[in-house]
Amino acid sequence: MNLDNPYLLLTPGPLSTTPTVRQSMLRDWCTWDTDYNNIVQKIRSGLLTIGNASEEYTAVLMQGSGSFSVESVLWTGLAPDSHLLIVSNGAYGQRMAKMASMMGAKSTVLSFAETTRPTVDAVEEAISANKSITHVGMVHCETTTGILNDYLPIAQMAKSLGKKVILDAMSSFGGIPIDLSDGSVDFLISSANKCIQGVPGFGFVIAKRDALESCKGNSKSHSLDLYDQWYSMETQAGKWRFTSPTHTVRAFLQAMTELEAEGGVIARNKRYRENYQILVSGMEKIGFKPFLSPELQSPIITAFLEPQSDAFDFKNLYDGLKKEGFVIYPGKVSQAPTFRIGHIGNVFPADIERLCRAVEKIKFW
Ligand SMILES: *Cc1c(COP(=O)(O)O)cnc(C)c1O
Repeated sequence: MNLDNPYLLLTPGPLSTTPTVRQSMLRDWCTWDTDYNNIVQKIRSGLLTIGNASEEYTAVLMQGSGSFSVESVLWTGLAPDSHLLIVSNGAYGQRMAKMASMMGAKSTVLSFAETTRPTVDAVEEAISANKSITHVGMVHCETTTGILNDYLPIAQMAKSLGKKVILDAMSSFGGIPIDLSDGSVDFLISSANKCIQGVPGFGFVIAKRDALESCKGNSKSHSLDLYDQWYSMETQAGKWRFTSPTHTVRAFLQAMTELEAEGGVIARNKRYRENYQILVSGMEKIGFKPFLSPELQSPIITAFLEPQSDAFDFKNLYDGLKKEGFVIYPGKVSQAPTFRIGHIGNVFPADIERLCRAVEKIKFW
């Protein structure tokens, strides 16, 4: 069997995985057998290690894509009298706002431009202006543009004012060091198919145990009740309530083992940074300009401005690169026409060098 992929995914998830991660899926597991439940427990404790989380924290896995986990945190974390302040500078902040609004939760959106990092002062002002705010939700790496938000000082300020903090670290956890040891984040959300380099099928939440325990009975969704899900995993040694994505879970354990073998988050971050630097310098030589200034940019994904030339057509670039073995990503920025290239996954500097040569080769504008 040929385990090679026909093209590399230069996308922010699902992303290119290793052949060994994909191979680890080639057997079936019983969702309530101890062999499988032990895998779940290893993953739960491994996640706490990756986040440098203290004993105060616990990890829960949730079926579905990452958004399902975000929604499970909102359904479960918010009580009828809660008021969520959503700090947004992109599509994923807006998605959190949409979820809150659809579930009828009281929420306020503090919007920033897609090229601007939220500041502590602005968030503090929004909190002071509205005494009923109980929760602050924000995104670490806004995958819309690739902007890396400075979540920690905001989380610490919110915590000092007694607010609960929800962090969407979907596209950063495992690829950018996150240290939960100061206890400022109550709920961190990420998923299997991002920087830990697993395959899609579930998300996870690293939650402060006391914050989660106080949420019993909040959720009006049964499937997305994070407390109930956690209670089952916690009291029944890794047992999911309903059918779980067993192959994906097994592959995730393999991906975690490979993250450790690579040298952990620090080493992975270094590789992603190298990918990013080679990409930007290569693309700039060809004439592309990154959308963000370098000090705002994450090592996860880069948005490039479309060239002004009338001959440029994203679809042609996409199709040409696909033939050369690379899948890239359309833009999601509202302010300017862009397209995006991800540099996460089982992707190395030599791959990015090949990509830049391919762009040069098919240049038609
Ligand atoms: C990928 C991602 C999500 C979740 O997206 P899904 O398509 O549901 O997996 C949420 N937030 C951010 C910042 C992301 O990058």
